[in-house]
Amino acid sequence: MSTQKFATNALHAGHDTNNTQGTRAIPIYQSTSYVFNNTEHAANLFSLAELGFIYTRLNNPTNEALQNRLAALEGGVGAVVFASGTSAISTGLMTLLRAGDHIVASSSLYGGTYTLLSVTLPRLGITTTFVDASNPENFKKAVQENTRAFFVESLGNPKLDVLDLKAISKEAKAAQVPFIVDNTVASPALLNPIEHGANLVIHSLTKYINGNGTALGGAIIDAGTFDWTNGKFPEFTEPSAGYHGLVYSEALGAAAFTFKLILEGLRDFGGALSPFNAFQILQGLETLPIRIKQHSENALALAKWLEGRDEVAWVNYPGLESSKYYDLAQQYLPNGQSGLVTFGIKGGFESAKKVTDATKIFSLLANIGDSKSLIIHPASTTHQQLDDAAQEASGVTKDLIRLSVGLEDIEDLKTDLEQAFATIDTSVLVE
Ligand SMILES: *Cc1c(COP(=O)(O)O)cnc(C)c1O
Repeated sequence: MSTQKFATNALHAGHDTNNTQGTRAIPIYQSTSYVFNNTEHAANLFSLAELGFIYTRLNNPTNEALQNRLAALEGGVGAVVFASGTSAISTGLMTLLRAGDHIVASSSLYGGTYTLLSVTLPRLGITTTFVDASNPENFKKAVQENTRAFFVESLGNPKLDVLDLKAISKEAKAAQVPFIVDNTVASPALLNPIEHGANLVIHSLTKYINGNGTALGGAIIDAGTFDWTNGKFPEFTEPSAGYHGLVYSEALGAAAFTFKLILEGLRDFGGALSPFNAFQILQGLETLPIRIKQHSENALALAKWLEGRDEVAWVNYPGLESSKYYDLAQQYLPNGQSGLVTFGIKGGFESAKKVTDATKIFSLLANIGDSKSLIIHPASTTHQQLDDAAQEASGVTKDLIRLSVGLEDIEDLKTDLEQAFATIDTSVLVE
């Protein structure tokens, strides 16, 4: 594993220029397939007697560079990239679980993940108990005999709850199940869940890691620390019918899950990342350390400014002293709390719609983590499919506006919000 520091790894890990004809940038290997030397070589590749490239659904040199870089940045033994963050999550869970299995998850999750767990996976026999993750004891209470994973977000989107990852990881260890942490909002530049006991880390690369709003992508980073031989995961310890009798835990040791994700997850579900997108994401990743610092600074400054505004009912940013997550944020995110800020606008649903319609620099759209500032009203958009109780549990109130604070000059961002606030009905301000 690399001993270099984060910012150096963000620029160099996973790329040996000797393997790319000296190119300083990582090339886009836009090829679906790779020529085998002969049939014996091909047979060796398929049987894993030799490692090499077969077909871009399984592996690709550009994607592999991104995988190795992400593994270095999160401190894992391996990583696999996917067509989107959602593909990473669904393929990861489908590779890990079978019908009859059960997940314990935080109720504060990205909307798409929440519906995957609450609606789609139950259709396939995989159920989830959602818990209030602010109390790690709740995970223990929800464990069943068939529980096979804990799933949380290190910094919940959009509730912005900071979790006590160490305490939850202890409960996962006691239950002998992998602790899966979606680290998208924090990014590896601010938080490394593996240091706090996570076994698998998930990213939507679409967000801060790419940072330019130009490419979808996702990843799973495997810490290599989970004991698949504990009796709960026979698919790792018995000959795999899906891969000519391979016993993953014996043949691949700490990298068992990484390989299962490639050999079965990508093979069967097909969510491969386009090498062109991998290239775009690599460009973004190079500047992640400096971008996330500025996102965090701008977000904190704007959150403080919002706290002083008459139009604003409440402000939620884990870096604010008024936040109930402030202490956990100082512990887990001491170098910045990333770029998302949520706040309640006086006048509720109607005012929230007016403000999100009126901003000029903040773009109204369903993404986060772009260098450009973004705004959304989750109750009418991203979390619209959730019923009132589920909206409440995921922290989405009717008056909530989510900002993804970009890298623009902070004074321009304040001016933009100020003119948008001027559109709301002033009678709501006297409340
Ligand atoms: C966006 C997001 C996802 C889904 O990623 P896509 O790349 O949009 O599929 C998952 N988790 C979190 C926390 C996200 O913000």
